[in-house]
Amino acid sequence: QVTKKEQDLQKRDERYVWHAMRGSAPAVGNIIAQKAEGAWITDIDGNKYLDGLSGLWCVNTGYGRKELAEAAYEQLLEMPYFPLAQSHIPAIKLAEKLNEWLGGDYVIFFSNSGSEANETAFKIVRQYHQQKGDHSRYKFISRYRAYHGNSMGALSATGQAERKYKYEPLAPGFIHVNPPDMYRRPDDEQTLESAEEVDRVMTWELSQTVAAMIMEPIITGGGCLIPPQNYMKKVKEICEKHGALLICDEVICGFGRTGKPFGFMHYDVKPDIITMAKGITSAYLPLSATAVKREIYEAYCGNDQYDRLRHVNTFGGNPAACALALKNLEIYENEKLIERSQQLGERMLKELEELKSLPFVGDIRGKGLLIGIELVEDKQTKKPAKAELINKVIGLCKEKKLIIGKNGDTVAGYNNILQLAPPLSITEEDFTFIVQTLKECLSSI
Ligand code: PMP
Repeated sequence: QVTKKEQDLQKRDERYVWHAMRGSAPAVGNIIAQKAEGAWITDIDGNKYLDGLSGLWCVNTGYGRKELAEAAYEQLLEMPYFPLAQSHIPAIKLAEKLNEWLGGDYVIFFSNSGSEANETAFKIVRQYHQQKGDHSRYKFISRYRAYHGNSMGALSATGQAERKYKYEPLAPGFIHVNPPDMYRRPDDEQTLESAEEVDRVMTWELSQTVAAMIMEPIITGGGCLIPPQNYMKKVKEICEKHGALLICDEVICGFGRTGKPFGFMHYDVKPDIITMAKGITSAYLPLSATAVKREIYEAYCGNDQYDRLRHVNTFGGNPAACALALKNLEIYENEKLIERSQQLGERMLKELEELKSLPFVGDIRGKGLLIGIELVEDKQTKKPAKAELINKVIGLCKEKKLIIGKNGDTVAGYNNILQLAPPLSITEEDFTFIVQTLKECLSSI
């Protein structure tokens, strides 16, 4: 039953608001959300849905946190804005706190989105090599299937043709390698092979032209691809061998999503640059950060003004967003949400395990509350299931009031992985609801 109120808003929405990605999840339809609390959103007609994707992998501490609204409100009254060409207290405190979380010595550049955090990293890296007198290093290696953002550089690093081919030519100097796919090649050789590919590509591209590699520790939106345990460490060693830096995109993996403060912490590496967004404020306000190892930052500290980073961001690190982020980090800590993500993730994988007996469920994998369910046409060949099947599951879940996502790579034929990333603050009842609903919907097919 669509109410009159809903009809009107739907029409006005369709006429004036551009929802570019709506078509990619037709089964979810047009939810016009109005209120949210915990893991649940309520639409304008009063339907309640459990948000099994935390918006877009971002509302990690859950909806309805008054203390976050208050932190922003108080800061807006105290001082709403001042540019970070100078400084302000919330930015200083947050940069310090992020260092605690990162367990290293990083200098932080604030922006507003994941895309901007990655763009900033690319510019820092290219100039860094120049500061050291090395003018030939400009190439970035990234991986197929990964997403790094919507702006020209971040999109160039992205490894999903579907998102790119209408906007070419993109930025030159971005080269892609294959990520490990443990479902299709589960042996150790796979680790060696995909890491060796990085080595080979850096060699053939000529080491002296390679500036950095950018990678998510776990490919998230591109299909929840968890690498073999020693892959990232090997990639870091290969980068070092070729004189390239390692940028770690923690836009989704960061802030507890995978059961550690940051995804790289699973793999015993220290990236040179770490980019983050989403979970930093749990999306209550826009904020992102590019954390740069001190040695790199120091290359910019010479006396010549042209040695400085020539990069400005009007809104980046605005005081209200920083104050809110600080409060948000407190919530993760006080409620032990990172440990919770790890524990609930493990339990959820166990609970869902039985679904693997279904003929079209090829794999169920995850780390923390980042879970992917890979649907296939045939378990022998592991051929990806068609989009119709995945849309059907998403539609069934929506009917039962659970919103989940999928990876979107129709062009490459990998449109077959259900994505689950609920807020880390879900209750026991929410947990049971997610598991039961998924079981019912998948078994009913
Ligand atoms: N990197 C990754 C891994 C992402 O998932 C995203 C967004 N989904 C981005 C970067 C870009 O972030 P934003 O949309 O905030 O620009």
